[in-house]
Amino acid sequence: MTLDDLPLRDDLRGRSPYGAPQLDVPVRLNTNENSYPVPEPVVEAIAKAVAAELRDLNRYPDRDAVALRGDLADYLGHGLTTANVWAANGSNEIQQQLFQAFAGPGRTALGFTPAYSMHPLLALGTGTTWVDGRRGDSFDLTAADAAAQVERYRPDLVLLCSPNNPTGTALDPAVLTAVLDVAPGMVVVDEAYAEFARPGTPSALTVLPGHPRLVVTRTMSKAFGFAGGRLGYLAADPAVVDAVQLVRLPYHLSSLTQAAARAALAHRAALLATVEAIKAQRDRIVAALRGRGIRVADSDANFVLFEVGGDQKAAWRALLDRGVLIRDVGLPGWLRVTAGTPEETDAFLTAIEGMS
Ligand code: PMP
Repeated sequence: MTLDDLPLRDDLRGRSPYGAPQLDVPVRLNTNENSYPVPEPVVEAIAKAVAAELRDLNRYPDRDAVALRGDLADYLGHGLTTANVWAANGSNEIQQQLFQAFAGPGRTALGFTPAYSMHPLLALGTGTTWVDGRRGDSFDLTAADAAAQVERYRPDLVLLCSPNNPTGTALDPAVLTAVLDVAPGMVVVDEAYAEFARPGTPSALTVLPGHPRLVVTRTMSKAFGFAGGRLGYLAADPAVVDAVQLVRLPYHLSSLTQAAARAALAHRAALLATVEAIKAQRDRIVAALRGRGIRVADSDANFVLFEVGGDQKAAWRALLDRGVLIRDVGLPGWLRVTAGTPEETDAFLTAIEGMS
């Protein structure tokens, strides 16, 4: 039997699952993970916290993850409390819950392409009509242009991404203000990479007061180096937290995940210590590529989008042949590389040099 033989939904026929190749190569810079392993003292703390839960695995976890949400609110600051925060298995699940609660059949979501490629897929999965909003030729987005597109399509959900994936560029705060002014529904700012932003880049958290339809999503997958732990969260008005609780699966966040994430948050200084080192590699990649005359998007994230010109698939393959796996995000002529350790940057830049 094949997939085609199943009574699959018509709108899912012919689709491919989301996912970058998970290849076993020496240098993996394709999914914007944190290249640094979890430090040993943090490994021990997480192991202890998880072990303490094991005897009670006969019981369901705290369905509302109250203690964890309190810890996340404390990490975010900005006067946020447990009531403002919701957590799930990665920010993908958070965003799926937002689509389920605020979009869905008969409703519309708008994003500004290129942005995070899961956003249209979440629309697909939830039966939401997706509108591909436009950016300028250099992936730029002005306040007037963004507002005009929101006014034209009147979406139930607007997805903004700051720093944006795959460009890496932070959102101009004027764009957010303009969108909030005209959006008829919810506005989500996906801040998966916020911790890597260059100084002076404000988080959308700063405009939460007075904007009850604004939702900021975050993750522990990137700066915290906790991608395998699967922990994403949102900050918003407490009414938004009430709304996503209508669609979340009961006990969605296992007691092991909650305990591991709390232990990781308690050791955040050790985990976030890698952020500055990664930013330095990011800036080094940008400078080295620009030094070679290559066009590069400004990056406030832990990755860099650069122009290879011509066939990006061939360039991607040539780098892979040199043992360096990066990401073809489907943008003609461009590729994206994650900033990791200095050694990984060396390998990437050597491979780039070898190609010319
Ligand atoms: N948002 C953006 C912009 C991302 O790049 C990613 C990870 N690729 C996510 C959200 C989801 O990450 P997670 O589910 O691991 O939190």
